Amino acid sequence: MNNTGNRILLVRYSEIHLKGLNRPFFEGKLIENIKKAVKVFNARVLREQGRIYVAGLDEQNIEEATEKVKKVFGVHSVSPAVETESKEWNDICENAKLLVEKTVANKLNGREKISFKVFAKRADKRFPMQSDVIGRELGHYLLENIPEIYVDVHEPEIKVGIEIREKVYMYTDEIKGVGGMPTGSSGRAALLISGGIDSPVAGYMMAKRGLELSAVHFYSYPYTSERARDKVVDLAKIVAEYSGPIKLHLVPFTDIQLAIYEKCPSKETTVIMRRLMMKIAQMIAEKDGALALITGEALGQVASQTLESLCVTNDAVTMPVFRPLIGFDKDDIMLIARQIGTYETSILPYEDCCTVFVPQHPVTKPKVEDLRASEQLVDFTEMINKAIEDTQVVFVG
Ligand code: ATP
Ligand code: MG
Repeated sequence: MNNTGNRILLVRYSEIHLKGLNRPFFEGKLIENIKKAVKVFNARVLREQGRIYVAGLDEQNIEEATEKVKKVFGVHSVSPAVETESKEWNDICENAKLLVEKTVANKLNGREKISFKVFAKRADKRFPMQSDVIGRELGHYLLENIPEIYVDVHEPEIKVGIEIREKVYMYTDEIKGVGGMPTGSSGRAALLISGGIDSPVAGYMMAKRGLELSAVHFYSYPYTSERARDKVVDLAKIVAEYSGPIKLHLVPFTDIQLAIYEKCPSKETTVIMRRLMMKIAQMIAEKDGALALITGEALGQVASQTLESLCVTNDAVTMPVFRPLIGFDKDDIMLIARQIGTYETSILPYEDCCTVFVPQHPVTKPKVEDLRASEQLVDFTEMINKAIEDTQVVFVG
């Protein structure tokens, strides 16, 4: 914005989770993830006193870099800022004026005047003026030199931030970040991902709590098409924009599904299928160093998600199963899907393996003992081993 300052991003993170001995670990993860997010810009990521700075940006890429950094889990807010060396009062005033003039030009929108307030912070105690004095004096200077602004201390439209540290930082925007915990700070879990609306949202939500993701998808070629499979890869890519790289396992499920369809009681086929999906997912998760499974199930949404069905599904595995959407209405899930950008892909009309083999009258209150017995009608061991052997792995993100 001006010739004297460097363009940088000032990144704030929530300190709630960062107390005590774990703090350096969380900060390290967060910095690592921000570095990945801004890799394309050749930017430098630095840490100083509870702040992270992304330096080495310019006028052309700062907006794009802001977009990327605000999506990194653990980021509370981002301010595109001007960094200057000089702590001469005249220089500070002049630089602040240039910055505020530019913001005013962007925000005025045909109006005559716009409100502002200066928020000052003095971390460098050698600087001769105290924070409140800096705020007041700089406010006066701006008011006298920029005709389109007036002071509103309660609800200013333009909040002018100035921080006197090793260098001087000024900004007029504080853009909200996604929050959450740095990806990887909570370990790894395996997401059962279908082509639907729910599971990508479930993956996003758990990644936001700091989990790294593996993903497992079951497909039933030729009953499901190549395009249905590509759609899942696309969905995983969108989730990976937030979660970081995802190791996606594509498991051929046709033989198992046909065996269930032919040999097990029709009304139980969906629940048996879900038990086998969970079992296979757990085996893959174990190999991948994942400690839990994630699904997009919501209580009561369909016959396979009644409490009884969930209990029966759960009985097939020993790992904890995270169901972050369990208490969500479909509308709420759809809203998040839109926000994170998976919705449009999820609603593409390709069949998935659940819909192809869905029975007309599925049980809604299955009993664990019945299902265990029905599952014994077929020896799935070989088929499961074969499916795992033939699993393709795709790295996305
Ligand atoms: P979604 O919108 O995620 O497809 P859904 O409402 O269609 O969910 P179900 O089809 O009953 O619900 O699936 C419940 C959960 O089981 C999904 O959220 C997902 O975690 C998992 N799942 C379903 N189908 C598959 C599949 N083909 N591969 C992997 N996981 C699956
Ligand atoms: Mg589905």
